[in-house]
Amino acid sequence: MVGDGSPLAPATVAIFDVHRHSTDDGPGIRTTVFFKQCPLRCAWCQNPEGIEREPSIQWYKVKCIGCEGCVEACPEKAIVKDGTGIHIDRQKCKACGTCVDACPSTALKTFGRNVPVECLIAEVAKDKEYYTRSGGGITASGGEPLAQADAVARFLAGCKERGIPTAIETCGATTTAALARVLPHVDLIMYDLKEIDPRKHEAFTGMDNVRILENCKWIASRIDEKSKHLWIRTPVVPGYTATDENISGIARFIKNELNGKVQRWDLLAFNNLAGGKYERMDKSQWVLKDTPLLARREMMHFHELALASNVPQVCWSGVIQEDDG
Ligand code: SF4
Ligand code: SF4
Repeated sequence: MVGDGSPLAPATVAIFDVHRHSTDDGPGIRTTVFFKQCPLRCAWCQNPEGIEREPSIQWYKVKCIGCEGCVEACPEKAIVKDGTGIHIDRQKCKACGTCVDACPSTALKTFGRNVPVECLIAEVAKDKEYYTRSGGGITASGGEPLAQADAVARFLAGCKERGIPTAIETCGATTTAALARVLPHVDLIMYDLKEIDPRKHEAFTGMDNVRILENCKWIASRIDEKSKHLWIRTPVVPGYTATDENISGIARFIKNELNGKVQRWDLLAFNNLAGGKYERMDKSQWVLKDTPLLARREMMHFHELALASNVPQVCWSGVIQEDDG
């Protein structure tokens, strides 16, 4: 069957980053692999470089010496320089990397590469000792790892064969068949429930949540919590998902529809630190770039609402404003 680590699964996979020694993406010390491509377009996306399947180029203003070597080198004539700096026409750019090689000051960087799955497994296996000692493992993140379900299933199966615990972070916007290919090879599923109202979900992410909720129920109906764990994650974003109706609505969904299978629910306070990425990708009009941090009392309030889910562990994390007094 394709996707179970058989030779028919793709031999390469598109990634845009690998973080070793991560402590944010599951228990213990982990290596997080960021896979390319995502079907959603969340207004608050923290990894815009992971949305498209193709590589993307970012320009670092502070490193640029203005030599115009990139402008001359680009075979597609996709780069112009004006008084504000370098601009890449994303429609013309073929992501060939010629400008990156031509730049004398490493002011241009490519995000995205195809790697052999076996090489990726060998790379993450280097830290197996850390995983074993800390109760950690590897986490498949993105982008959306299930956008490359067959290759990611092959990667996860290879990790399991080497005795490495596995986790996946998913938005759930995929087919049930894709979930079924990956599920046998994961120990922990971290599943995003962002917004409970389908119309708001579509307005915020470009897609309604009907399939996402159905897929979440499907997972909950199939996992045995002794061998696989299900965590829910909710980005708490001012002006979007940070409402009483949403947090209480997700709490009801978890309590009524997920059969007591959720071990933990994480509320993730939004921050606008990704603003620099948007500017480096010529997306300087990120709608959330000036959004203020949530206050501690607001996160405490949402945490209180989330307790109605009856999930054993409800946590919140992220950068917040300390309340006055
Ligand atoms: S990656 Fe290639 S096509 Fe794109 S801007 Fe650089 S040189 Fe031009
Ligand atoms: S080649 Fe590098 S340093 Fe020169 S203008 Fe382009 S980005 Fe700036």
